[in-house]
Amino acid sequence: MDNPFKILILGGTRNARDLAIALSSNTEVTRELDIITSLAGRTSEPDRTFGKTRIGGFGGASGLAEYLSNEAIDLLVDSTHPFASQISQNAFFAAESTGIRRLVLNRPKWERQAGDNWIDCADLDEAARVLPTGAKAFLALGHQYLDRFSHRDDVSFVARMIDRPKFDIPLKNHELVLAKPSHIAREEADLFRQFNTTHLVCRNSGGGLIYSKIEAARSLKLPVLMIKRPPAVSGKSFGNINDLAEEIIRLSA
Ligand code: NAP
Repeated sequence: MDNPFKILILGGTRNARDLAIALSSNTEVTRELDIITSLAGRTSEPDRTFGKTRIGGFGGASGLAEYLSNEAIDLLVDSTHPFASQISQNAFFAAESTGIRRLVLNRPKWERQAGDNWIDCADLDEAARVLPTGAKAFLALGHQYLDRFSHRDDVSFVARMIDRPKFDIPLKNHELVLAKPSHIAREEADLFRQFNTTHLVCRNSGGGLIYSKIEAARSLKLPVLMIKRPPAVSGKSFGNINDLAEEIIRLSA
């Protein structure tokens, strides 16, 4: 009997979770899959997934390379968030140095649709500059990015995050929404209305479920400060879970 085919999925995204579940329920699998999902440990209650989970950093590219070798990983899958550039770079170098195959799940970015009022921003600093005095900006960003807006005392903010931050929010005028984003555009629109939002600030993450906020902003004709993605790390990349799962099954056979 063959050894299981050992896969390390770098996760922290819904896609990573859905990929593990898709692999576990695939009927074409001919060899047992041993799936480990790695999480950075940023959220206190990560969603459950299929297979094993490990939590915490590896210690840079060399730490990840060591882990891949020690655990005899057959395939590395980078299914991290498109803005999580560091771990993707580490994955690239760790795969290069160990010779372990790496595949990337790179969900397509959102494209502007009719009715969208997007202001393209190269980065968070540009978004912070562009907000007009007196704006009420809804920040659909992780708590680690809020300090980029801290100099804007002339703007008020609504900051949404999943867990209550362990530090003081570095914004003078702000309100906090402790909740996961709703996947229903109407509920997102209700929230924007409730806070008298004038601008939405978000990153071009792509993905279907959290697109609801973009639809909500469109329906309310809200300007969206859309932060551009960092360049993707090179490698064999897939735009959807099914194609990637098929390739993994093919490689495992
Ligand atoms: P990052 O800046 O690319 O990574 C910083 C460090 O965190 C990495 O060098 C690594 O530490 C550790 N790390 C990141 N992802 C990891 C993983 N899946 N497993 C183990 N260690 C990991 O990442 P980030 O932007 O802070 O995001 C952290 C995690 O949250 C990512 O896994 C990402 O998929 C998820 N996430 C991020 C965003 C976002 O907006 N950035 C949004 C949703 C989910 P070592 O160098 O010590 O290995």
